[in-house]
Amino acid sequence: MELLIKNQQNSNEVELNEEPPSLINFDLAQNVNFNVLGEKSKKFIAKFFPDVTAKQWNNWHWQIRNSFTSFSDLSKVINLSKSEMEVVEKHTNLPVRITPYFASLIDPNDPLQAIRRTMVPTIDETILSKGEQPDPLGEHEDTTVNCIVHRYPDRVLFLVTDFCSAYCRYCTRSHSVAKAKSHHAYKSEWDKAFAYIAQNKQIRDVLISGGDPLTLADYQIEYILSSLKQIEHVEYIRIGTKVPVVLPQRITPQLMNIIKKYHPVLMSVHFTHPDEITEETKFACNRIANAGIPMGSQTVLLKGINDDPDIYKKLAHELLKIRVRPYYLYQCDPVPGSAHFRTSVEAGLNIIRHLRGHTSGYANPQYVIDAPGGGGKIPLLPDYYVGKDEEGNVILKNYENKYFKYPDYV
Ligand code: SF4
Repeated sequence: MELLIKNQQNSNEVELNEEPPSLINFDLAQNVNFNVLGEKSKKFIAKFFPDVTAKQWNNWHWQIRNSFTSFSDLSKVINLSKSEMEVVEKHTNLPVRITPYFASLIDPNDPLQAIRRTMVPTIDETILSKGEQPDPLGEHEDTTVNCIVHRYPDRVLFLVTDFCSAYCRYCTRSHSVAKAKSHHAYKSEWDKAFAYIAQNKQIRDVLISGGDPLTLADYQIEYILSSLKQIEHVEYIRIGTKVPVVLPQRITPQLMNIIKKYHPVLMSVHFTHPDEITEETKFACNRIANAGIPMGSQTVLLKGINDDPDIYKKLAHELLKIRVRPYYLYQCDPVPGSAHFRTSVEAGLNIIRHLRGHTSGYANPQYVIDAPGGGGKIPLLPDYYVGKDEEGNVILKNYENKYFKYPDYV
């Protein structure tokens, strides 16, 4: 193991000095219609933002404007551990950004708390381990026009921004998010992407991602969705986002009214741990579901955070209660400085063994490894298929480790 190059710039202490365009000329007084305040939010406001009204707190623009973007800010609301303090002077791949709402869910005194570990960098992030690489999925290789990754023939990944409302410390795209001076791709780049998709008639499915597309302004989201909708061969659109988890206030009726004009639109939401399911996330997901948008959770398997089978099962059950289908469980990609987050593949298989047959099929995600080097998602299952006997029966093992034969003679 070796240390990453030190402190090219002290990115953790550098405030993001350009606002995303969605914040230009915004009016804090506008009615954004998000009226839920969970217990943790209430306590956090009383302690750290006593002059802030519920209306301000529930305005997503206010949340982004007042996000924690430096260690000095963070140290006012959490007691930084030695490992968190040590990283202050080092270079990390990602800046810090945590919305006040999500910061209210962090345990100020427990550096090992799951949510805290996903958001607050530690010195472990500066350690480069064997097999780690900046772009493990080889997305750069599959990039056609600037913001289109075209790996599978019939679908594309459309990266519309490199800005997120909160930066996950294990982010697969840590090589590309939060890097540009202006965080959002320009309209001219999007237009090139629409032209590319229009020219390639085999593209049926567009996944809009980033960064987080829901950090764009309503009019920008409408521009993207309406432009895609005009392309005849695009059958449906997917949006990849963590906003319902870290910035649920963004899920406004206005946004839902825009999205539902362009159905079918599906949403992949990035949930990680049951503690993320609060009054606010329930309200936001309910709104999304009521707008007719099917949701699936894409969860990254993380050591000491959600690799305990009971914790993952609890997450899966809580997600179904808020109409989010546990969709993918990803093996953590080997991005630089991620060894402290990565589990063995066996830990992932163990979770699947713990779920399959022991809970509803809907609570079973597909466990996948996104193959390094651009191989795409490869599903993994424990050994339920044992083989074939001489008579042509398939030998199967069930969830209780009992063996069965299926007459596979046709
Ligand atoms: S929300 Fe997604 S893109 Fe943004 S930092 Fe987290 S994992 Fe990366």
